[in-house]
Amino acid sequence: MRPLLSLYLDGELPEPQRGMVTRHLGECPACRAEEAYLDKTLRIIHAVESIEPPRDHLYWNRRC
Ligand SMILES: [Zn+2]
Repeated sequence: MRPLLSLYLDGELPEPQRGMVTRHLGECPACRAEEAYLDKTLRIIHAVESIEPPRDHLYWNRRC
């Protein structure tokens, strides 16, 4: 879920993937912890570089 979470937090994740991540966060404590961590680190990362969204559609089917 890590690649999805970074996009999710960026607000760059389109539906239906965004809804999928929202649901997953509701049922996966590990990814909620990951989200909290990424939320903090992304603020720092964005100060120095932009993140390239994944083009490979297999990304969207990954769980965790
Ligand atoms: Zn998860």
